[in-house]
Amino acid sequence: MSMKTKEEYFESIRKLNLPVYLMGEKVNNVDHPIIWPSINSVGMTYEIAQDALYEDLATATSHITGKKINRFCHIHQSIDDLVKKVKLLRLMGQKTASCFQRCAGLDGMNALNAVTYEMDAEMKTEYHQRFLNFMRIIQEEDLVCDTALTDPKGDRSLSPSKQKDPDMYLHIVKKDAKGIVVRGCKAHQTGATNSHWIAVFPTSAMKEEDKDYAVSFVTPSNTKGITYVFGRQSCDTRKMEKAQIDVGNLKFGGQEAYIIFDDVFVPWENVLIGGETKYAGRVVEIFANYHRTSYGGCKVGVADVLIGATSLLTKCNGTSKASHVKDKLTEMVHLNETCISCALSAQTEGSRHASGGYLVNGLIANVCKLNITRFPAEISRLSQDLAGAVIGTTPSEKDFEIPGGIGDLMKKYLKGAADFSWEERVRCIRLIENITMGTGAVAFFTEAIHGAGSPQAQRVMISRYSNLDMKEKLAKNIAGIKE
Ligand SMILES: Cc1cc2nc3c(=O)[nH]c(=O)nc-3n(C[C@H](O)[C@H](O)[C@H](O)COP(=O)(O)OP(=O)(O)OC[C@H]3O[C@@H](n4cnc5c(N)ncnc54)[C@H](O)[C@@H]3O)c2cc1C
Ligand code: SF4
Repeated sequence: MSMKTKEEYFESIRKLNLPVYLMGEKVNNVDHPIIWPSINSVGMTYEIAQDALYEDLATATSHITGKKINRFCHIHQSIDDLVKKVKLLRLMGQKTASCFQRCAGLDGMNALNAVTYEMDAEMKTEYHQRFLNFMRIIQEEDLVCDTALTDPKGDRSLSPSKQKDPDMYLHIVKKDAKGIVVRGCKAHQTGATNSHWIAVFPTSAMKEEDKDYAVSFVTPSNTKGITYVFGRQSCDTRKMEKAQIDVGNLKFGGQEAYIIFDDVFVPWENVLIGGETKYAGRVVEIFANYHRTSYGGCKVGVADVLIGATSLLTKCNGTSKASHVKDKLTEMVHLNETCISCALSAQTEGSRHASGGYLVNGLIANVCKLNITRFPAEISRLSQDLAGAVIGTTPSEKDFEIPGGIGDLMKKYLKGAADFSWEERVRCIRLIENITMGTGAVAFFTEAIHGAGSPQAQRVMISRYSNLDMKEKLAKNIAGIKE
């Protein structure tokens, strides 16, 4: 098998029977009402790959087996592949208006492809072959792999080995001829309970004293010793109310979880960085560059939905013809297209790596993400400006059904322009609420700031890539200043 159907994917996750805790209870992963929209969102990555209309974007040809595979399992072999990835992410954002969780894994696998190759070239190790063996499984079985970098980090002013509690960063506690044993936790993991495999990365560059923390490996998500604790999202319990309107996005959502590694054994064949500190920073940098441009695809697709909902609501409100309203909608489109332009140019300015894979342009990738830390927030602000206070004050959908006339009065008072029903207006309101401050805002707002590194991380990288010497030379040449 090379490509699963959506239903086969759901079944494969059910079979894993992962130990997942949510609101103090061990729960049935997959079918729990808070979890289901997130797995359904990943399901769309399978559905779209089966759709002939999207075949060119959503599938690719494996460089390992030569078979047609889901693009979310592909190692980019050209600039065209890089560009198609970003376009696919925008399309997926448009279809789900949420995080569909499969790109962190895709970006992680592409980073590992490059770095394991570099390690073998320098040290004559066998990391790259191990990685290719793993990729073959992922591609042949069309599996989801999430990428887990972020440690809880304890006191951020201290390095991993200087922490009072040594487990604040995931680390190797034992090594023998068969493999390693690791302990620690990875926080905020997107798609954690919807994944078949986990690719664990170090959280940042490591010094020699932090050798045991410079570890990367892949492991099945149901490995003994791994437990998941599901993260809360704003308004999440609305999904348990059997609400049709109040959830805003009925079918799709994202998920993050803490993944606890309690003395987990990893055989050597799955270890991809085993203490080589030099490569910890390198793999994080390549991953971050890919992922910072992924946001320029997915968040832009979600913003397409948000802009659409806002435009519709201005029609419901009877304000759509006002010039400042049109101007604000135009500003939202301008900000959004700036994000995708950056993401696309980071791909077209990408380059071939010695492994045969393709890397994105690091400078533009970081500019792209720094824009993402601001523009979705500004798009949200403009959306709420145009929507009005109803975004924060609309009563529950149950209140529209209160007997004795009150429900009818609510319908009357929530109605706007004649062409739209109260329900159409309230559905738009709830969708905007979802994306700008409800469950969807975890990905569209908070993750836009912190995901793939907080804003300062992008500033540091922009400064590092900025090549001011070259720019000074240009200025000297024009100004007639001798070297
Ligand atoms: C929705 C969501 C999904 C995510 N998904 C994933 C995922 O799938 N995989 C994954 O690995 N990670 C994921 N992340 C985590 C993300 O990568 C981190 O949030 C990010 O790297 C920042 O780390 P932090 O949250 O620990 O922030 P912190 O380190 O707590 O940073 C908070 C602030 O403190 C500043 N700061 C931090 N350290 C220092 C210091 N030493 N000195 C001075 N200032 C400092 C930062 O610049 C920032 O302004 C996700 C995050 C979110 C919000
Ligand atoms: S935030 Fe975007 S890029 Fe990251 S996993 Fe979710 S959809 Fe993909």
